Amino acid sequence: MPLFKKRKYIRITPPNDLENPGKASQPAVPDNVWIKCPRCKATIYIKDLGESKTCPECGYAYRITAWKRLALIADEKSFIPWDGELLSKDPLSFPDYAEKLTAAQQKTALNDAVLTGTAALEGIKTAIGIMDPHFIMGSMGTVVGEKITRLFERAAEQKLPVILFSASGGARMQEGIFSLMQMAKVTNAVKRHSNAGLLYLSVLTDPTTGGVTASFAMQGDLILAEPQSLIGFAGRRVIEQTIREELPDDFQRAEFLLAHGFVDQIVPREKMRERLAEFLRLHQTNEVSENGE
Ligand SMILES: [Zn+2]
Repeated sequence: MPLFKKRKYIRITPPNDLENPGKASQPAVPDNVWIKCPRCKATIYIKDLGESKTCPECGYAYRITAWKRLALIADEKSFIPWDGELLSKDPLSFPDYAEKLTAAQQKTALNDAVLTGTAALEGIKTAIGIMDPHFIMGSMGTVVGEKITRLFERAAEQKLPVILFSASGGARMQEGIFSLMQMAKVTNAVKRHSNAGLLYLSVLTDPTTGGVTASFAMQGDLILAEPQSLIGFAGRRVIEQTIREELPDDFQRAEFLLAHGFVDQIVPREKMRERLAEFLRLHQTNEVSENGE
């Protein structure tokens, strides 16, 4: 028996990725360690995103869950939830909707795509709503509409400001017309809260689109946005096909909206808590207490 067999040669094929020809010769890296920024396309070590999950190159604020956002914004242990028990029905018996809801509930630890309640920010009490883009794209069905309506109604009763983080693909198609009706309902609640002289801070995060943009997201007294967020109503391709023109690259980005007056300020995520608290303090009702303080 020969000690050495004839060596088998293998054929090395050139890498398919011509833009990055060195890729094939590099050692394999686990998928979850390096990521490509969806905005600036830079390759980023996942740990460099930091606590705030922000791209160190371009400032893009990655999508985060509602619970994570709450932890970044609210004072510790200050959150009291409202209406967490509300559950979506399946009014149109839409195929697979019930299963989708169950899967989304398990994934997000929420019963629907928005978390609402009261919390304190640097000691100032506020009503707060946070949409979760991981729950069927943060779409607005009857429960989201109802929870946000109640958020504004209760805030008006209790004379509280509202901070609302939007993240949504728009109305929830699985609930058809019932979803569209939420736009009018929430809009009215926002108006009543505004008529009571109370502050509403709207924060647009990636993505804020469709019926959410067309209703409460754009009704804030101040409209803030996270860097590089996608904000718009209809999709880019639909608009291009309709107007038969090519749109600029940064169209529907927070920075484009700021330049065109739709957004008041772009706030990096790591500064968001501080900035919101600042606005709350500035707009606090200056009721003088009995001892004149
Ligand atoms: Zn980036």
